[in-house]
Amino acid sequence: MIPNILSIAGSDPSGGAGIQADLKAIAATGGYGMAAITALTAQNTRGVKGSALTDPGMVAAQIAAVREDIRIDAVKIGMLGTAAIVEAVARALEGLAAPVVLDPVMVAKGGDRLLAPEAVAALRDQLLPMATVVTPNLPEAADLLDAPAAGSRAAMEAQAEALRARGPAAVLLKGGHLAGGESPDLLCDGAGRTWLEGARHVTANTHGTGCTLSSALATEVGHGRPLAEAVARAKAYIGAAIARADDLSVGTGHGPVHH
Ligand code: PLP
Repeated sequence: MIPNILSIAGSDPSGGAGIQADLKAIAATGGYGMAAITALTAQNTRGVKGSALTDPGMVAAQIAAVREDIRIDAVKIGMLGTAAIVEAVARALEGLAAPVVLDPVMVAKGGDRLLAPEAVAALRDQLLPMATVVTPNLPEAADLLDAPAAGSRAAMEAQAEALRARGPAAVLLKGGHLAGGESPDLLCDGAGRTWLEGARHVTANTHGTGCTLSSALATEVGHGRPLAEAVARAKAYIGAAIARADDLSVGTGHGPVHH
């Protein structure tokens, strides 16, 4: 069975991040991709030039239209923009039995904010408890916990546990921002803690890596795989997509990965 995967995220016209990355990753990992659009951004590989948020009622209407007609096997949540959109998404997903992968998108690779600072609390209080797995990087975890970013594996373990205490069934804390040559990720779920090691690929082309990982993970979970196996497969997928990134010639800034 091909799983139906709903991405709730913003649009990136340069095709590297947001729903464009999500739909590519979902297709490449064997899912049928759908997208409820929370925002239009005007951006390229050099940065975000502008954005227009979707009316929260229209975000809810998109999700409701999909829900009333189509079986949803997994949801991926990315850029939300404001507390009003966070609330609309939380309400629109109420009662849905499908697993939810929450990528707590806050800042684009170039440094532009994609979530209003005052919306962080809404995301933490309303969406975190609904998540099957939340996939923060170290700065995002720090923002959610209102703490300094973890600088060691011990600090990552403490922050992953602190996030899990806020309600998600599992936390995948991405260690790509740790100093040093490695990029370890930590999965914390009811079964315990698992470190997933990863070599860091040297490339400037990492635009959309968070979107890609969370969408691949939603698709793997939508296939019905257990979470630890789904995470391992999604991590292998993004690793290969980053390794292939330099095959592309897209823009002069932080280019996309190659699906
Ligand atoms: N969603 C949108 C619409 C974006 O534009 C971006 C970054 O530019 C992101 C999410 C997050 O991107 P990344 O996967 O690089 O963290």
